[in-house]
Amino acid sequence: MKPTLAYAAQNAKTPLAPFSFKRRDPKEHDVAIDILYCGVCHSDIHQARDEWGGSTFPMVPGHEIVGRVAQVGSSVKKFKKGDIVGVGCFVDSCRTCSSCAEGLEQYCEEGMTATYNGFERGTQTQTQGGYSDHIVVNEDYVLRVPESMDLQGAAPLLCAGITTYSPLRHWGVGKGHKVGVAGLGGLGHMAVKLAKALGAEVTVLSTSRKKEEDAKRLGASHFITTSESGALEKAAGTFDFLIDTVSAAHDYNAYLNTLKRDGSMILLGAPEQPTPVHAFSLIMKRRKLGASLIGGIKETQEMLDFCAKHKIVSDVEVIPVQKINEAYERMIKGDVRYRFVIDMASLKNDV
Ligand code: NAP
Ligand code: ZN
Repeated sequence: MKPTLAYAAQNAKTPLAPFSFKRRDPKEHDVAIDILYCGVCHSDIHQARDEWGGSTFPMVPGHEIVGRVAQVGSSVKKFKKGDIVGVGCFVDSCRTCSSCAEGLEQYCEEGMTATYNGFERGTQTQTQGGYSDHIVVNEDYVLRVPESMDLQGAAPLLCAGITTYSPLRHWGVGKGHKVGVAGLGGLGHMAVKLAKALGAEVTVLSTSRKKEEDAKRLGASHFITTSESGALEKAAGTFDFLIDTVSAAHDYNAYLNTLKRDGSMILLGAPEQPTPVHAFSLIMKRRKLGASLIGGIKETQEMLDFCAKHKIVSDVEVIPVQKINEAYERMIKGDVRYRFVIDMASLKNDV
């Protein structure tokens, strides 16, 4: 067992603070990874504050992990010591159900094993995430990070990148499509970059007028300030697809109304509160409301390679881990450009 430095939430009400625990030694098929960087996802906040219910504590959040392989188990084939690798939102699944068989492990019928806030399969051992100096993961759930990538910017691809890439591919978004992206945070800014790279014409729908210039730089052609009265009404019937990455409750009906006939709104944001949907928001224009959960291992590798080819990484603000509670507060206010990434070397500052 290896001692591991980390930051953890001890319960839903107190700030994250230094924490140490032990990781398992690598088994036959495991890869031990020294963590270099970990992105900060809004899901970390939802779970550390138990906004979705059922959180387990102490909790070390973090599922946008990039690191260097420190050691491999005796049967590991895909990786060797020194490789730069990534770990995303899950570290195991049943491997036999129809979803796993199709490479859609995130929808595993038995439930995927979350990177944190979960339990190792068949045990009472909690999984703990990437706000730590070291992690041990079965090689089948480890990704290869292309060598050309900036590693700080690559970390958020492991969740924000795949969560936006997967629905864009599933719904066949590309040339000739008008795509709206609601919420310009971590997921939103990746949706803009990826939809643009796939050939779509992108509009950002944001509450923050001050993000307009950035939106255009990231690849958007148009910008709508949703907090201005009448702005959404003016956009009625505009989009083929609307990717909703908003983290707090909002009126889905107002956003559905921006879809064309037969348009689809895809929910990625997961606010804690349910929101009513009026049947007429869908009926009158045969619209569709869908949603999507991260992406499978094969597709995550495909996304990383796509991003390397198109020179896409996340726009990041790198912070020491000691600033994590401040970063959470800033994210809740929408003050993020566009992903906080923790430099894990900073963990040593507390020792
Ligand atoms: P984030 O970086 O904090 O961005 C969320 C953005 O939503 C904010 O920057 C803000 O954008 C907008 N927003 C926040 N509060 C709002 C409000 N009250 N009304 C309207 N807009 C508001 O969060 P993230 O990491 O991108 O995550 C976004 C959501 O996706 C979270 O709920 C997260 O849990 C969820 N998520 C889902 C999956 C999945 O698999 N489906 C995976 C990862 C994350 P503007 O300033 O532009 O308005
Ligand atoms: Zn995430």
